[in-house]
Amino acid sequence: MSEAAIVGTGPNGLAAAVTLARAGLRVTLFEMADTIGGGLRTESLFDSEVEHDICSAVHPMAAASPYFRRFDLPARGVRLLQPEIPYAHPLPGGRGVAAWRSLARTAAHLGADGVRWTRLMGPLVTRSAGVVDLLLSDLRTPPSDPIAPLLLGPRVLAHAGPRSPFVTQEAKALLTGVAAHAVGRLPTLASAAVALLLGHTAHSTGWPLPEGGSARIAEALAADITAHGGTFHTGHRIRDLAELDRFPLVMLDTGAKEFLALAGERLPARYRRSLERFRPGPGAAKADFLVSGPLWRDPLMGRAGTVHLGGTHDAIVRQENAVVAGDRGTVPFTLVVDPAVTDPSRAIRGKRPVWAYAHVPHGDVRDPVPMIREHIEQYAPGFGDTVIAARGRPAAAYETYNPNYVGGDIAAGAMTLRQSLLRPTARWDPYSTPLPGVYLCSAATPPGPSVHGMCGHLAARSALRRQYDVHDCPDLAPRGREPHGTGNPRSTAERNTT
Ligand SMILES: Cc1cc2nc3c(=O)[nH]c(=O)nc-3n(C[C@H](O)[C@H](O)[C@H](O)COP(=O)(O)OP(=O)(O)OC[C@H]3O[C@@H](n4cnc5c(N)ncnc54)[C@H](O)[C@@H]3O)c2cc1C
Repeated sequence: MSEAAIVGTGPNGLAAAVTLARAGLRVTLFEMADTIGGGLRTESLFDSEVEHDICSAVHPMAAASPYFRRFDLPARGVRLLQPEIPYAHPLPGGRGVAAWRSLARTAAHLGADGVRWTRLMGPLVTRSAGVVDLLLSDLRTPPSDPIAPLLLGPRVLAHAGPRSPFVTQEAKALLTGVAAHAVGRLPTLASAAVALLLGHTAHSTGWPLPEGGSARIAEALAADITAHGGTFHTGHRIRDLAELDRFPLVMLDTGAKEFLALAGERLPARYRRSLERFRPGPGAAKADFLVSGPLWRDPLMGRAGTVHLGGTHDAIVRQENAVVAGDRGTVPFTLVVDPAVTDPSRAIRGKRPVWAYAHVPHGDVRDPVPMIREHIEQYAPGFGDTVIAARGRPAAAYETYNPNYVGGDIAAGAMTLRQSLLRPTARWDPYSTPLPGVYLCSAATPPGPSVHGMCGHLAARSALRRQYDVHDCPDLAPRGREPHGTGNPRSTAERNTT
């Protein structure tokens, strides 16, 4: 049986490990942190019984991705809970707008833009699997659904220009809030593609939260790896690829900068230079709050899984473009989640978590707690009075937590059009590297950030093809041998730590 080392246990490292283990390889995973999961960690908040997501919280891509469709989280005991309103957006003057699960209900609240919203999203919803497969692919292979690019092309072009095709403030803000998930210049082809990918899934596979937190996804992946012979080494940072020379195959769930550090002088000069040119994007600054009651009094926001704070379309565009230019702008675009709205198990004895992060300039050093608290207070007066404890992680501090998030860039590389395609360098197979048997499998490869597992899965498929002449996708479905994804990932990791 051949062996593979996986450096990093984020969703992509875990997805790569599952795919390789299912193909019959013996996989060994190395994780620098004490717990596995990367962007999928859930911990108790301020030593309370309240469980809180440290990075990702909301999972439209895990619900939709071709990898997780095959892996089948629900069959492994991970309950993906759907909010009635996937995302909502308060506007100045007490108004608000929402994307409901139902497309018709959403359109009915959009006045003059209701028909436009239906025409934009309806066909994408109808062919959702094909649209998702296309945008979560390596962006090189022919689409599984040839109609998907025909639907997406004109829609992306229409929403990538300076003038929004919508006429109401409500519809403009609703779509711009999702476009801002691209964490970059607005509007562009890349931001329009992100807006349509995320926007339409609100009306198809949804924007669920896993019951109990994002770590349940990591646990389900880890359980499958363990059941297929894989082992974990936590608290073990790999500092040089030479440490892994005994492995014929190495998968790196690391960003471009960490790859450069690990490979040192082994990389050819030209490839090194192109990796060095791969630009990080703006930063994220996150605040965690332990609060004594529901965040929203507004009935619309109070039913939403995710709330986008940034005001009107024009205000968001101005702010996001300022941030890309390294300017703090005025009030940062902020994503806010009150997880107990969707998952009541997160509220315990009157305490609940609030998860929020703001888009800030790359490497911004500000403590995000005061600015995020103030921003939420603007739309949810009285919020500050419910805060029992708060803590923040500035953008500049992210890289110490996880070297993939350089300067707080949680996308592992700016999501410009160029860098979405040539990610991280211009290679036909973006997962292979000039080093024999060494592959990149993190969000620094296509299709980029989010918890979809596709970077890891596609990198593993590439390695299986190139190293072992295995062309068929291994079966990823549950086989009944994996324990259900319950318990703390820490225990899974420790059990296997040698
Ligand atoms: C604050 C925040 C909020 C987010 N919200 C969402 C969300 O709601 N929904 C969503 O879909 N996505 C969200 N994301 C993005 C998502 O978490 C990432 O896109 C995703 O985790 C990337 O997965 P990955 O496997 O490529 O890398 P990561 O998840 O970053 O994992 C990389 C792992 O590798 C380890 N590592 C790195 N270098 C080494 C080394 N040399 N040796 C050993 N270990 C190493 C790291 O410790 C880490 O555990 C969020 C991210 C952040 C930070």
